[in-house]
Amino acid sequence: MKRLSTEYKNRKEYFDSPEFREAYHCDAPLGSFCFGGGTVFRLWAPTAERVTLRLYREGAGGEPLWEPDLLPGERGLWTAEVAENLDGVYYDYLVTVDGVCRPTADPYARACGLNGERSMVIDLRGTDPAGWVEDRAPAKKPETVIYEVHVKDFSWDPASGVRPEWRGKFLALTQEGTTLNGDGLHPTCLDYLKDLRVTHIQLMPSFDYGSVDEGGAPDQFNWGYDPVNYNVPEGSYSTDPARGQVRIREMKEMVMALHRAGIRVVMDVVYNHTYRLDSWLWRTVPWYYCRQNEDGTPSNGSGCGCDLASERSMCAKYILDSVLYWAEEYHIDGFRFDLMGLLDVELMNRIRRALDRRFGRGEKLMLGEPWSAGGTAARPGTALCDKGHLWDLDSNVAAFCDNTRDAVKGDLSRPDARGFVNGGGLDAGRLACCVRGWAGSGLPHRAPSQTVSYLSAHDDWTLWDRLVCTGDRRRRFDARHPRLMRQNRLAAAINFTCQGHLFLLSGEEFARTKGGIKNTYCSPPDVNRMDWTRAWENRELVEYYKGLIALRMELPGLCDKSPQASERISNVRAPAPDCAAMEVDNTGGDSPWRRLFLAYNAGKTAVPLALPEGRWYLLADGKSSTKRRLKAVAGTVVLPPVSAMIFAQH
Ligand code: CA
Repeated sequence: MKRLSTEYKNRKEYFDSPEFREAYHCDAPLGSFCFGGGTVFRLWAPTAERVTLRLYREGAGGEPLWEPDLLPGERGLWTAEVAENLDGVYYDYLVTVDGVCRPTADPYARACGLNGERSMVIDLRGTDPAGWVEDRAPAKKPETVIYEVHVKDFSWDPASGVRPEWRGKFLALTQEGTTLNGDGLHPTCLDYLKDLRVTHIQLMPSFDYGSVDEGGAPDQFNWGYDPVNYNVPEGSYSTDPARGQVRIREMKEMVMALHRAGIRVVMDVVYNHTYRLDSWLWRTVPWYYCRQNEDGTPSNGSGCGCDLASERSMCAKYILDSVLYWAEEYHIDGFRFDLMGLLDVELMNRIRRALDRRFGRGEKLMLGEPWSAGGTAARPGTALCDKGHLWDLDSNVAAFCDNTRDAVKGDLSRPDARGFVNGGGLDAGRLACCVRGWAGSGLPHRAPSQTVSYLSAHDDWTLWDRLVCTGDRRRRFDARHPRLMRQNRLAAAINFTCQGHLFLLSGEEFARTKGGIKNTYCSPPDVNRMDWTRAWENRELVEYYKGLIALRMELPGLCDKSPQASERISNVRAPAPDCAAMEVDNTGGDSPWRRLFLAYNAGKTAVPLALPEGRWYLLADGKSSTKRRLKAVAGTVVLPPVSAMIFAQH
């Protein structure tokens, strides 16, 4: 086998070179595959001198049953063929590079044992729940409303009424008919989601991650941005992490139950770094998958010390293969790319094209964070998916819009920073940019199809905690604050009248609190949990959100994702200080409303609001979002303090 060329000063330069790609890029399917009476193992390891397969009966511990060597082939591909169907057999590899032998699981593993340390051969058809073949995503709605959920915190609260053995697990999202403390009256979990009518749930990392011991105490908690096995579900969310098939089947059952409930499923995927530098990818081809600084140290744009080199062809293949695998095998409907600003534009556009080709244009959602945690040592000339490159990205790759988030509630630098709704002042022009999803001439987003409008996500303070920080010196997060509730409703009304895809952290609609803690990534589940009692106590706010979600579906002028959508917004004005109003061309779709008039008052006093010509119907105000087809009004109305009004005209 061809060895590292001495012409190259170091590995970094060699791995980045076109010669390396030409010599070793390998399109063969990688991983282990069993069929009829045989099993084949394929590993890409172009710098290895020797690769040995070790087969085990158990997922952890025990002695190898057999240790055959793999045979080297073309393009760095190593292969072993076994004349036996090894479905359910565990395995790992010994990979020797530069005289150093390292044990590693298969980076392409599709099943694994406890904590993902050993891979498992799997016949995936044996993991399909009954009815899986007929499983289909529910029909698309006029708008996308994404609800971000963490599998464990969603049902951890005993008040959820979920079966105790399913709390915190994938299966909790399959249980129908759950109610608050089992009272039979107040829906929780899946039934609550159905009632709220969000269109997508976004699962925080649900692939196998390393920061929770799958055999340890049940009250461990982590958000899970610590990928170990990219193509296997997380074991701590299954009822039996030691049996490789169980987590796979249970995750599929969850997807199927959500589809049946009319909800599509988005996965949060973390292809920007690995849990440890010493990952399966690293052990297989040391340094290839990893960006390095000039001095050879690992690049740290992820804040985790090991950025993946998405611009290298086999790393790009790995990421693309993984996305397609989840979409095909698990029927996942969309992908949220963590720190997308570390991935390259070419790869993201390739993923978009590949998903469109297989599933239909725009059928699978793609969104991501257009930023990183710091600079990264990508190959010179690589365009990264940050805000500066949204114009180079496919218009169907959406980016979280921090401009709107920060304008509405205050930036994230300080807990007491203020935005429109909490006393920061309201600039009508800036608010109009939010409504247009920051799309249009010269703005970062090309069209609202590229915008994810949101006020809160798992990162940073919840919306409610931010409002308490800026509105209550004593920071009583659990107290009732009617004034802050008004601010919350105004913030929601702004977000739900912004063009772009809509997104909210689960529980934002019931004033979810994490006690003012900014970063709860490893806080106990009691801090992170969805508090289902609070969901009932703050049901008026829940109803307000629910009404806004339903209303949005009837407003094609705001759902428009085309590059021309921003032209629908006109006559932006400031009727008073801290107040803004604008009109929306709402034609299209089957809406009975031809025009909309939006008005927002962040000030402390009521203002007289002159309606545009004609008769207007009030659809929502600061108290209710379900006012429909009441008496039409004309002339001047009163816009109460800290509230929004949405009017429509035939
Ligand atoms: Ca794990």
